[in-house]
Formats: sequence, structure tokens, C-alpha cells
Amino acid sequence: MTRPFPELYRAELALERLKPYARMKTLDQVTTPDGKVFSIESIELGSQDPKAPVFGLVGGAHGLERIGAEVVIAFLTSIAERLSWDRSLQHKLEHIRIVSIPILNPVGMYLNKRSNGNGVDLMRNAPTESHAQAAFLLGGHRISPKLPWFRGIEGTTEKEAAALIQFVKDTSFHSSCALWIDAHSGYGLADRLWFPYARSYAPFPHLPEVHALKSLYDRVYPHHVYKIEPQANAYLTSGDPWDYLYDEFFGLQSKEKKPTERIFLPLCLEMGSWNWIRKNPLQALSASGPFNPVKSHRKKRTLRRHMHFLEFMLSTVFSNQPWVYLSVADRERHRREAMELWFNRHYSP
Ligand SMILES: [Zn+2]
Repeated sequence: MTRPFPELYRAELALERLKPYARMKTLDQVTTPDGKVFSIESIELGSQDPKAPVFGLVGGAHGLERIGAEVVIAFLTSIAERLSWDRSLQHKLEHIRIVSIPILNPVGMYLNKRSNGNGVDLMRNAPTESHAQAAFLLGGHRISPKLPWFRGIEGTTEKEAAALIQFVKDTSFHSSCALWIDAHSGYGLADRLWFPYARSYAPFPHLPEVHALKSLYDRVYPHHVYKIEPQANAYLTSGDPWDYLYDEFFGLQSKEKKPTERIFLPLCLEMGSWNWIRKNPLQALSASGPFNPVKSHRKKRTLRRHMHFLEFMLSTVFSNQPWVYLSVADRERHRREAMELWFNRHYSP
């Protein structure tokens, strides 16, 4: 049987190899306008303790940004190949859980479209509003599914967005430390790691922790390539599911009156595509060209480039002491440094 798109074939292969170690679930099914049915597949590996630290990975939320799904699949493939012999990985998984939806928007990938089959942008579909000046259209709108960045019909949640939200809640909301990477591409020259909020210039409550994580990464890999910043530094959007999930989590935490004791940190890996286009301008003419490395050596380089970062994040989920369990004084110091670094421009408390 010929597969409808190559990333799906590679995702199925990775999941097949992980099967002996994993818990797999079909979260939902979505249909193309011509009646092809695709499943949204999820995978869980490692500890089943609800409190266990979680490393989560999402790819393919935007169908055009194919490289995001490829990065997630490459990482899962490497995990699959190592699980039978790598004792340090086996040991990690006794204590933590790796969870993933490698292809969140299979219809979008099949149709080579940013949105899902209903023309809805899954990164604009959650019930969260930007009260600041979100960018016109790009920030999310309800004008028409024919325009990009359509938020969907008010009060409704698309199947893909609902599946993501439920899966994240189920696997991560009771975890002591959950770190998620959602892989995208297309914006800017540099590779970026965006943390909340997308909806607001205001600092989010776990700012000290994300600064501590950044400091750790800077010390361990002083030559790393990532620009780490709040998503609002690039542009403001409404309907970001990670903003929504973060607020839900924080609301839950606040009810427990221990708002910063556990952490849920969603990061968007936004791979800068403008370099790929600069080196190969003709690729900008195809639909997915602006969002992906097209030349095979460039794609290989991209897939290599992010593996050490994902490996580092996996290690910092397992060994989370240096950035999750901060003393009161360290937390205050990181908060001050983070405000200085990221928020002077837009925000004064
Ligand atoms: Zn994207």
C-alpha cells in the first residue's frame, strides 16, 4: 500500500519499533474533504506514576511545516534504537515519561496546508484571548477559513486541538515537572525557543524557572544556536493551545495554593527557515518551500542540529533539581535577571 505522505510512513515505522516498550493510543480520527481518514496517534513510554517528570513532543501541528514532524520522528527513532541497550536511557525511563503526538495535523500534512481540514489554524483555535494588540490576521481572526490563521467558529474546538489539550492534561497535569516541545518552522533566521505567553507581553509565573533552565543550557552548551525568548517578543496571538494549557495548569495549581511547586513548561521550537531560503531562493516558490529545508544535505543537517538539544532537555527533565527546585533567593535572582533580559522593552510591572 502506498502511504499518503512520507512523514506518516516514517512516524509509523518509529512507533512500530517503539511498540514493545510503549503505550499507544489513537486519540481521534480526522477526515480529508475527499474522504480519506487519518488517525491522530499518541505514544507514552516509561513511568506510569502520575507525578513522574514528563518530556513531551509534538510535531506537525502546521501541515506545511513538515520539518517539525521530521525532527520529532527522528528523536523517537533514536529512542527506539537505544531502548534495548542504552542503560542510562532505560534508567531515566524508570523515573520519567516520554510522551508524544508526532503528527498532530495529518490532514494538513496530507493536503500540504498550514491549517487542518476545516481551514482552522490549530495554534489559534484554543479559547484564549490576547487582550493586547495581536497582529492583524496573523494574530488569529474569525473572518474566513479561506484566510490563513483562522481561529475557527467561536465556542468550538477542532478535533486535533481537543486531542492535544486532553492528551497533555492526562499525561502531564499531575507531573512534578512537565516540559513540552512543539516543533514548528518558518519564522526568522535564527532557531528560536519560545516560552509563554503568546497572548500577552506580561511575564508568565514560571519565568524564574525558564531563566534558570536557559542559564543551565548556556553554561553546558555555550555555543548553542537558540534564541530563547517569550513568544510575544515575535508577535502576539490569540488561541494558542499552550497558553491555554499553561493557564489551566496554573489555575489548578493556584487552587491548591502552591502555585509554583510543580511546573508545566511548554516550549515552541521555531526553526528559522529564512536561511534555507536565502541559500536556495527558488524553494520559496513552492507551498512548503518557505517552511522547510529542501536540499537533502540541508535537511540532514537540520535533523542532526536539534538532536543534542532534545537530548539535553530530556536530561533536564530527569535531573530537574537545578532549574525546578530553586531557593527563594535564587528564584528572585532569576526573576530579576529574566525581567532585565526579556521584559524591559514592553513591560513594566
Ligand atoms: Zn507553525
